[in-house]
Amino acid sequence: MNNKVRELAREEVNGQYIYMERVRELLAAAGKTLYCYVETYGCQQNEADSEIIRGMAVEMGYALCDSADKADFIVLNTCAVRENAENRVFGNLGALSHLKRNKPDLIIALCGCMAAEEHVQEKVKKSFPHVALVVSSNALWQLPSLLYSVLLTGRRAFSETDAAGVIAEGLPKLRDRGVKGWLPIMYGCNNFCTYCIVPYVRGRERSRKKEDILADARAMLEEGYKDITLLGQNVNSYGKDETGKARFPELLREVAALPGDFRVRFMTSHPKDAGEELFSAMAESPKVAKHLHLPFQAGSDAVLKRMNRGYTAEHYLSLVRKARSLMPNLVLTSDVIVGFPGETEEDFQKTLDLIQEVRYDALFTFLYSPRKGTPAAKMEDVVPEEVKKERFARLLEIQNRISAEIHQSYVGKTVQVLVDGHAEGKEGYLSARTDGGRLVVFPGGDELIGRWVGVEVTDNTTWSLAGRLAAK
Ligand code: SF4
Repeated sequence: MNNKVRELAREEVNGQYIYMERVRELLAAAGKTLYCYVETYGCQQNEADSEIIRGMAVEMGYALCDSADKADFIVLNTCAVRENAENRVFGNLGALSHLKRNKPDLIIALCGCMAAEEHVQEKVKKSFPHVALVVSSNALWQLPSLLYSVLLTGRRAFSETDAAGVIAEGLPKLRDRGVKGWLPIMYGCNNFCTYCIVPYVRGRERSRKKEDILADARAMLEEGYKDITLLGQNVNSYGKDETGKARFPELLREVAALPGDFRVRFMTSHPKDAGEELFSAMAESPKVAKHLHLPFQAGSDAVLKRMNRGYTAEHYLSLVRKARSLMPNLVLTSDVIVGFPGETEEDFQKTLDLIQEVRYDALFTFLYSPRKGTPAAKMEDVVPEEVKKERFARLLEIQNRISAEIHQSYVGKTVQVLVDGHAEGKEGYLSARTDGGRLVVFPGGDELIGRWVGVEVTDNTTWSLAGRLAAK
């Protein structure tokens, strides 16, 4: 495992721009527009990486298209968090072989977290000859030079699986047009939760310079973004990788102090690094959304220990109490894993007790599945599938009731929301988010998109609110 981290020198980034130019020249020789299609799997960090992949593709002369059928260059930007996510990608890769047969010049690339795994690279080398390029998340900055060598030589190219964790400032980026945008502040993770593959595929924590982050935030605000999410696997340890670097609460305050009418939010937090300094920065900065996503994962200290989470249930609850004392209307969401190896009925009951004590607005619930390459995958005392599923159903029943009650408490109230687009599958309806990130659907015209409006809540579902534009 490569624990090295470093910031790329300007020359190295410029070097890739030279390769982007060379690819552009090669493509120009085709005498027609060539298209690139990027398919993104997994987390927000991958969404942000795909913005760089699209930026580099356009810089290299490709036009972007929205389907693999139309493409001359297909990039699957993959997620390695769960085994079935990997199997789905291998299925899709297999399905692309017919396109390659019909279009011999088609370039298919596998990028993202899967590309950093030895066993994946071996499998692609042996079983997927139509995949010409494999580039891990940590080596993403080398995509232009690797693509150039494939186009020039016709030989396949594979990035190192063990590439050092780098910070690559200045690569082209193409964000989705809209009101909400991602702003990565750091990469990698040093926490080594025993069920998680991220530290092995994304490397050690490395924080971007505060000045570079603030410059990105200003550029996003100038481009009209109204809702900026600061991204990192564990944003609370921002700046800890280098002495003298600002810490997360300070960075959050400075982003929130930028001029303009916008909201800043962040994910993902880790309870072992979150605390009063963060909660005060949230409470005292009007532009910081009063939404905290704080994964607890399990309610039993014995399970938390085997997960290597680094905190106890009581410590977690004390954080929740502190946050709520400073922000009484805080929207709290979290992640939970059911069926971790060795989880007893008594352990599980503690998980149920915790969610009933905290009463989350929403909870992301996961059935534990072993992940090759993680310590937990070697643990004995596996919880049988039917027991896991039975516990999962009990947990969902309780959480759905809590979420429905919390969403129902909004009915009759008027909430301020940021309209971010059209409501899916509802003609004439718009979708919007409260400061706390709650989904609100109401009838309205396109002129409202990108604006803050008042909505009178008339109804709710377990996870969302419905309403009408409030009278002025
Ligand atoms: S904090 Fe834990 S779960 Fe989150 S990315 Fe790091 S190792 Fe994975």
